[in-house]
Amino acid sequence: MTDLSADNGVILIADDNPQNLEVLSECLDDAGFEVRVAIDGASAIAKAVYQLPDLIILDVMMPGMDGFETCRQLKADPRTQAIPVIFMTALTEPEDKVKGFEVGAVDYITKPFRLPEVVARVKLHLSLSAITKQLQAENNARLQAEQNLRQMVEQQHRQLLEAEHQLMELEIQLSEKNNGHKEFTEIDFSNSLGVEDDSFDEPSWIKVFKKTSDKLKAEIQERKAAQEELSKLKDALELEVAQRTAELQERNEELKKNEAMLQKHMVKLSAAMALKQKTMAELEAANIALKEAEEQLRYDAHHDNLTKLPNRLQFMDALTEAIDRTKTCPDYRYAVLFADLDRFKVINDSLGHLVGDELLKVAAKRLKEIVEPHNGIVARFGGDEFVILLRDLTDFSQAETIAEQLQTLFRQPFHLKEYEVFTGLSIGITFSNNGYQLPSDLLRDADIAMYQAKANGRGCYEVFDPVMQTVAMSRLQLENDLQRAIERNEMQLYYQPIVSLTTGEITGFESLVRWYHSSGQWISPAKFIPIAEETGWIKFIGQWVMEEAFKQTRLWYDLFPERNLVINVNISPLQLNQSGLSDWLSELYNCYHLPRQAIKLEITESSLLGVLNTEGHTLRQLHQSGTKLCIDDFGTGYSSLSRLHELPTDTLKIDRSFVNRMVEDEGGIALVKTIITLARGLSMDIVAEGIETQKQLALLQSLGCDYGQGYLFHKPADSKTATYLLQSWQRDRVIGLSNNFTGVI
Ligand code: C2E
Ligand code: CA
Ligand code: CA
Repeated sequence: MTDLSADNGVILIADDNPQNLEVLSECLDDAGFEVRVAIDGASAIAKAVYQLPDLIILDVMMPGMDGFETCRQLKADPRTQAIPVIFMTALTEPEDKVKGFEVGAVDYITKPFRLPEVVARVKLHLSLSAITKQLQAENNARLQAEQNLRQMVEQQHRQLLEAEHQLMELEIQLSEKNNGHKEFTEIDFSNSLGVEDDSFDEPSWIKVFKKTSDKLKAEIQERKAAQEELSKLKDALELEVAQRTAELQERNEELKKNEAMLQKHMVKLSAAMALKQKTMAELEAANIALKEAEEQLRYDAHHDNLTKLPNRLQFMDALTEAIDRTKTCPDYRYAVLFADLDRFKVINDSLGHLVGDELLKVAAKRLKEIVEPHNGIVARFGGDEFVILLRDLTDFSQAETIAEQLQTLFRQPFHLKEYEVFTGLSIGITFSNNGYQLPSDLLRDADIAMYQAKANGRGCYEVFDPVMQTVAMSRLQLENDLQRAIERNEMQLYYQPIVSLTTGEITGFESLVRWYHSSGQWISPAKFIPIAEETGWIKFIGQWVMEEAFKQTRLWYDLFPERNLVINVNISPLQLNQSGLSDWLSELYNCYHLPRQAIKLEITESSLLGVLNTEGHTLRQLHQSGTKLCIDDFGTGYSSLSRLHELPTDTLKIDRSFVNRMVEDEGGIALVKTIITLARGLSMDIVAEGIETQKQLALLQSLGCDYGQGYLFHKPADSKTATYLLQSWQRDRVIGLSNNFTGVI
C-alpha cells in the first residue's frame, strides 16, 4: 500500500468494458493516481491481494462474478477488508445502491461518468480511509499503554499482598512469643527470616523482632504509598484513555458529519453538473435554433414566401450584376422578361385565394422548368407578376424562343384541386442593348412591353420598343380615369338588336357598355373592361350597367308590353363571385316589376370553366331563381362540348370567329352544325353573333340557328336609336335578306 494521501495512491478498477476502463484510468491517471485495471471480479480480487490498492472501483455488471459478490469476498478477507470499494453502474435504482452498501461499499458512481465527479469521490474516500486508519493506529497505541500499566499495577498489588501476609504471620509469631515470655522486652530476629532459632535470648530477640517489624512496617508503608501512586497513575491513565476515546469518538462523529456534508455537496455538485450539462445542451440547442432562424430569415429576405422563388431583392442583385458586366464586357447579352398570368384576378376572385395560390405555385414551377436550364433566374414580385433574367445570351432571339416555349407550356390546363383552369402568359421583353444603367429602367420597360402584349390580345409576347412608353402612359391615365368615369357620367349603355332568324323580329337586345372619355373619344369595352377587371372597378361598372339595363327594359316593357323583349346583360366572372348577387337581382326584378325572363345574363364560356364543378355556386342559384343565363363566346373557352350539359344555362351564343369560319371552309360549317345539334339536344336556344354577311345569315338559317346578332342587322346603338328600331323594324331585313341565299347547303 502506498503512502496515504488523497492526491495519489493506487486505484484498482474492475470493469468488463474496455472503453470504460480506458476512460476512467486515463482520467484517474491524469489526476495523479496509480491505476491498476482488472476485467472481471476474480482477477480484481487476485490483483487486490497481490498488491493492496488504496481504493477499488467495481463495476456491478460483470460476467461471471458480479461486482456485489466481488465486494463481498474482498470484505470477507482480512487482508482486503479495509480497502474502500466504490461501485459504478448504470443502475440507478435505490435498491441496487442499498445492496451495494450492504455488501460493504462506501460509495456509488453512476454511468455515464462525470469524470470530475469520479475524481472528487475517489479523493474523498481516500482521505476518509486515511483518517480512519490513523485514528485506529492511535487508539491501538493508547490501548496497549493502558494494558501495560494495568499489568504493572496488578503486579505491585500482588507483591503488596504478599508483604502484608508475611507481616501478619510475623505479628502472630510475635504475639505467641509475647504470651510465653512476658518478661522479655526485646526479641532477636536475626535468624527469623532465614534460620529458625528456637532458643530464647529475650532482650535481643525482642529487639531483633521489633527491628524486623519496623522494617516490614516501613516496607509495607512504602509499598502502600507506591501502590497508591500506581493506582493514581492508573486512574490518570484511564482518565486519559477515556478522554482520548471520547475525543476520538468526537472526531469520528465530526468526520462522519463532514462525510455526510461532503456527500451532500457531492449530490449538489452532481446536480449542478447535470444542470450545467443540461444548460449547455439547451444553450447549444438555442444556438442551433438561432442559426436556423437566422438562415431562415436570410432565406425569407431573398425569397417569395408562396412560390419559394427568388424575390425582388435577390433579382435586383442579379440584375445589377448583369448590368455591371456589360460595363467591362460590352458584348455581354442578357434580357429581362416580365410575365403576367392572364385573367389571374378573375380566377383568384372567382375560385378563391387557395386556388389562386395553387395556380401561382404551379406557374412558378412551369417557369423554372423552362428558364433554369438556360441559366436564367425567375423571381416573383408579388401578385401574378413574374420576372425573368436570361443571362449569357449568344443571341437576343434566344429570349424570344424561351418566351414562346413558356407560352406553349402555359396554354396547357392547370389542374388545381378539383378545378381545371386555363390561363395564359403575357410576356414583355427588353434586351441589354438599350444601354441600361439602372435595374429599375429594365423592369419598367419590360413591364411596358408586357402591357403591350396584353393589349395585343393576351397570351403573346412583345419586345420593348420606346414608342410603347407612350402607350403605357396612356394606359396608366386610362386606369386613373376609369375610377372617375361613373361619377362623371361618362358611361353609356348601347344596345345591339338580337333578331329571330325565323320570324325576322327583334326579340331583344344585347346591352354593351361604352365609355365616352373626357378627351372626347369613345373607348371600347374590349379595351377598358380588362383594365376594370384587373383593378377591381368592374364591380362598380357592372352594377351601373345592370341598373341601367333594368331601367331601359322597364321603359321598353311599358312602351311595348306585348313584345316580351329579352335584354342581355354581360357580366364579368368577378360579379358572379360577389356575394348577394342573386338577392340583389331579385330586388331589381321586384323594383322594376319585370318578369325573370326579361333580363338574361351573358357569361363568357372561359370564365365559366372554373365554376363547373362548384356545387351550389351562384350560377345554379341564379338559374334556380328563374334568371336566364347565356353562355357567351361559345367555342373560345376550350371547354369540351361533352361538358356543356353541366352548365345550368338556357342560351348558347356561338362566337363570331365560328360564324366567320363558316364561309371560309366546310369544316367551319360542320363545327357550327355540331354546336347547334348539341345545344338543341340540351334544349338550349342558339344565338349566332357577328353576322356580317347575308351568306353567313343564310347558312345559319339553313342550319336551324334560332337567333342572330351582327352588323348585318344593326350595330350597337344608343337607347333612343334602339327604341326607334323597335318601332320601325322591318322583318324582311332578316327574312328577305337571306332569301337569295337559301339552298346554299
Ligand atoms: P361580347 O359580349 O362578345 O359583345 C359582342 C361584341 O361584338 C361587341 O363589341 C359588339 O359591338 C361586337 N359586335 C357585334 N356584332 C358584330 C359584328 O357583326 N361584327 C363585329 N366585328 N363585331 C360585332 P363591344 O361592344 O366592343 O364589346 C366588346 C366586349 O366587351 C364584349 O364582347 C364584352 O365581352 C365586353 N363588354 C361589353 N359591354 C360589357 C358590359 O356591360 N359588361 C361586361 N362585363 N362586359 C362588357
Ligand atoms: Ca356578350
Ligand atoms: Ca360574345
